[in-house]
Amino acid sequence: MTETTWQTQYAQSYMGIFGTPQLELVRGEGTRVWDANGAEYLDLLGGIAVNSLGHAHPAVVAAVSEQLGTLGHISNLFTSPPQVALARRLLELAGAPEGSRALLVNSGSEANETALKMALSHRPGGRMVALEGAFHGRTLGALSLTWKPTYREPFAPMTGNASFVPPNDVAALESELASGGVAALFIEVIQGEAGIYPLSDEFVQAARELTERHGALLVIDEVQTGAGRTGEWLAHTRYGITPDVVTLAKGMGGGFPVGAVIGYGAAASLLSPGQHGNTFGGNPPAAAAALAVAREVEGLLGRVAEVGERWREDLRAVPGVVDVRGRGLLIGVELDRPSAPIQAALLSAGIITNSVNPTTLRLAPSYLISDDDADRFTRALTSVLA
Ligand SMILES: *Cc1c(COP(=O)(O)O)cnc(C)c1O
Repeated sequence: MTETTWQTQYAQSYMGIFGTPQLELVRGEGTRVWDANGAEYLDLLGGIAVNSLGHAHPAVVAAVSEQLGTLGHISNLFTSPPQVALARRLLELAGAPEGSRALLVNSGSEANETALKMALSHRPGGRMVALEGAFHGRTLGALSLTWKPTYREPFAPMTGNASFVPPNDVAALESELASGGVAALFIEVIQGEAGIYPLSDEFVQAARELTERHGALLVIDEVQTGAGRTGEWLAHTRYGITPDVVTLAKGMGGGFPVGAVIGYGAAASLLSPGQHGNTFGGNPPAAAAALAVAREVEGLLGRVAEVGERWREDLRAVPGVVDVRGRGLLIGVELDRPSAPIQAALLSAGIITNSVNPTTLRLAPSYLISDDDADRFTRALTSVLA
C-alpha cells in the first residue's frame, strides 16, 4: 500500500492512542523486518523486548502451528499438557521453593493486576509502594503503580492506592514501609520504560529485608527484564534474593502474547478458587510458544551476556554517547542531545530503535543478533551523531 493510503486507513479505523505509526511492516525473519515496498530494516527493538528469538523463529513457528492444529483453545475449565509443562518449567527456571505456583496470563499488565490482587489478599485494604520512574502497565490497577503522572491523572482516582519513592533511596523506602499498611512493594530491577536504569544491589537487598520486616510482599516486575533478556533467565537472581511474586510477559512468548505470575512459597496460595480468572491464560498455543522459547533461550544466556557486554563497551567509545546502561541485551544509550531525531535518522538508515526517554535510545534485539549487526549499529550511530 502507498504511504498515504495505509496512514489514512489507519487514522480512519484505529483508535488514536499510539500516534501515527512510523512504518507499516509486512514480514519479518530473524533480526530483519520489511515493509510493503521491500525496504529492509535491522530490528534492534524486537517489538519492545518481545521478540527474544527474532522474527519467525522456526522453533516458535513449529510449536505454535503444531499446537494450533492439534488443540487450540479449551478454556481454564480444562488443562492441557503444554499448560502444565510450562508452569513446571517456569517454577524450575525461577528456582522457586517448594509450594510455589505459576499462573499463566496474557500480558504484562494482566500479570501485574494479578499481583495486585495477591497483595490485597495478603493485606486487605492495604496500600502499594512503587518507585519513581516505574512502569507496570496501563490497565487501571497496573496504571496506579506506573509513575508518569500524565498516564495516571486523567483516570484518577487510582485503585492501587500507591505512593512512590525514589529508586535507590533506602532511607526513603524504609520510612515509607515503616509508616505502615503497605501490602506490597513493586519494583523493576532495571527500570525499562524510565530509560534502562538498574537498581543498586544495596537497594534491592534492602527492598527484600524491609518488605519482610514490615509484612509487605516484594513483587518484582520482570515483564521487560525476564525470559533471559539480561543474560539470566530472571534478572533479579543476581541480587541473591527470593521475592514473593514475579511477573513476566514480553519476551517469554517470543512474539506470542503470553505472560505469567509466579507466587513464591506462601504467596502462591494467596488467591483462592473463585477469586481470579481469565479465558485465554495459558491456552495450548500460548503455552507451546513459551515452552519453545524457554527451550531455546536456555542455551543462549551466556551469549546474551557476552554480546551485550562487548556492545556496551563499544558504544561507550562513540562520540556523543554520555552513558550506556543495562545488562545483557537490554541497553540504554544516553546521548548528549535529544534522542528522538537520532532515532529518526537511524530509521532512515534502516535501523529500528526507540527513544525511550528524551535523551536515551533503547536496544532490545533478538538474543540471536550477530556481532556484525551489533557493529553495524555502532557504526551507524557514530556517523549519525557526527
Ligand atoms: C511492558 C511492561 C509492562 C506492561 O506489559 P503489557 O504486556 O504491555 O501489558 C509492565 N511492566 C513492565 C516492566 C513493562 O516493561
